Amino acid sequence: MPELPEVEGVARALQPRLCGRRILTVQITRPRLVAPQTAAAFAAGVEGATFTDVGRRGKYLLLHLDNAYTLLVHLRMAGRFLYVMPCDPLPKFVHAIFDLDNDRRLAFQDQRHFAVMRLVRTDELNQLKELRNLAPEPLGPAFTPAYLQQVLAATRRPVKEVLLDQRCVAGLGNIYAAEALFAVGVNPKTRANNIPKAKVKRLWAVIRMLLESAIEAGSTIDVNPESIAGQYFGAAYAEALLVYDREGKPCVRCETPIVRIRQGQRSTYFCPQCQPQRHARSGRQSGR
Ligand SMILES: [Zn+2]
Repeated sequence: MPELPEVEGVARALQPRLCGRRILTVQITRPRLVAPQTAAAFAAGVEGATFTDVGRRGKYLLLHLDNAYTLLVHLRMAGRFLYVMPCDPLPKFVHAIFDLDNDRRLAFQDQRHFAVMRLVRTDELNQLKELRNLAPEPLGPAFTPAYLQQVLAATRRPVKEVLLDQRCVAGLGNIYAAEALFAVGVNPKTRANNIPKAKVKRLWAVIRMLLESAIEAGSTIDVNPESIAGQYFGAAYAEALLVYDREGKPCVRCETPIVRIRQGQRSTYFCPQCQPQRHARSGRQSGR
């Protein structure tokens, strides 16, 4: 599932291909993709417009147009852009096709049908409910150790759930949250406000390091929009994951089998030896 590094990879792949390209026609073959707008209204809003920039906020892609509108796209589980020739056979599950002025087409494929594409006014982006409550970008200047400390200290929720909450930390998903907690030796069920300050600082550094190296390495999915039949999941970087999706396999540090639990409807992976469950230390117990 695409997380911040993957979405960033998609944005960087689309940027040089789309900027300056005019959209001639649009076909929406699955109207729910653009709901609540109708397919016709959506098409009317983008046809004739030129892409000016491709950006990202959290796990949202922002495809800016020169007509004061922006395409806001969330890939969810499996949304994927393809940049192909009009004569190329399209794979299954293509839900939108944008024919461009350079004899190329941008197609949007989504096998899982969870992706979202909305046309919104660019000057209203920051007021959208999807974006206005997002936490600061984890690679940006507002995401400081003090910020993370404040977010974690404010709640007794399990730390893993807080890391996945886009209002607390933007862009992290199941994979990088699991990897970050493994790197600092914190059990995913630990109450957020029970994590010592020094560990929070390490967690902050690890989150940034993991995201940066995943962006550089090309992330866990194949974001190349020109690989039509390409494998979406399981790109090279997935092999760099130390704990995610490794249930039963030996921990890379201590060889204890990695455990998978269900947490907040999601699978969570951790090493019971390296990430021991700390018993909540209330003030009463930690008297000394
Ligand atoms: Zn271990």
